[in-house]
Order: sequence, then C-alpha cells, then structure tokens
Amino acid sequence: MPNDDLPSDVRATAAGLDYPQPMRRGSLGERFMKCGKPACACHGDADARHGPYFVLTRGVAQTTRSRFLTPAQAAVARGQVVRAAEFRERLEQYWQACERWADRALEAAAADTDAAKKGASAKSSQDIRKVSLWLGHSNLTATEASVRADPTEQLEAIEAVVPPGLRKGKFRPPDKLLALLKAKPKWRAERA
Ligand SMILES: [Zn+2]
Repeated sequence: MPNDDLPSDVRATAAGLDYPQPMRRGSLGERFMKCGKPACACHGDADARHGPYFVLTRGVAQTTRSRFLTPAQAAVARGQVVRAAEFRERLEQYWQACERWADRALEAAAADTDAAKKGASAKSSQDIRKVSLWLGHSNLTATEASVRADPTEQLEAIEAVVPPGLRKGKFRPPDKLLALLKAKPKWRAERA
C-alpha cells in the first residue's frame, strides 16, 4: 500500500482500529422465566418468575441465536458488547474517511478526462488548419463547418484521395507555391 499520499484522516481512523481486544456482536439481556414445577408461584405471578437470567442474543442470517450466561459471565460480556459498539463507531469513521478519499480519486479522474478533452480539442484545431490548407478554404470558419463531424476522419479521407507523392509527411511544397503564399500577407493576417 502506498503510504506516501495516505490522507491524514484515513491514517488517524485506521490507527483507531489497531488494538485487538475481546469483543462481540449482539446484545446482552435479562430474562425472568417460569420453571417446570406446575405448583410454583412463578406460573401465576409475573413478579414471582425466576431470574434474572442473562442471555446473549445475536442475529445471524435472519435468525436469533441466544446463549445463557452466569452472572459473572454477564459482567464480562457486557464489556465485550460495549467495546464492539465502540469499535463499530471507529470502523464507521474509517469507512467515511476512505470514502472521502475515494471521492477525491473520482474527482481527479474526472479532471484528467477534462484535461484530455482539452488536449484533444487543441489537436482538432491543428487538424482543422491542415484540412484548411488542403481544401484551400480562405478562412477557418468555412473549414470547420465542413469537418465538424470528425476532423480526423476528414483528414484520412483527404489522404486517401491525394496522390501518394503528396500525402502527409511526404508533401514538399514547390517553390512556386511558397512564393504564392509569401505574396499573400492578407491571408496570413486573417489567420493570426
Ligand atoms: Zn418457578
């Protein structure tokens, strides 16, 4: 795991998870019960029921599991249940810090996409100027209207019909053409 750019809130909340201790999920309750003797007062009087009996309960896969404890065990289990609740809260804080971190990663990826689009847009502008030269348009606006669909496709289409000797990378403007271009300062001013 790269720790160099570990956010401080993730580091802090992770540290809060790093002291193992006995704890348990579920809850601790008390029950008062009737006994198996039909003559016992517990059957007729709720206040005469036996107990309290200490019961650990925990929901597992849509059922509830129960476990009876002695009073001494119940005292220990109470602390275990409390520590579990505290751990759950620290775990939640850790989750939230990690998710803030994850959100920032998504935002950074979106920013990268924006930057890539701007780069592609600049590339398109360059392509349009090339197309303009090939088509001989007097200004860029007319060229853009004709290549709006996809300047790259347009360039490929042009290259496909241009004689091999004139294709991109091999084109050498003749002196006559260069002289013509140099003699047209008005055209250059429009493009500046
Ligand atoms: Zn009884």
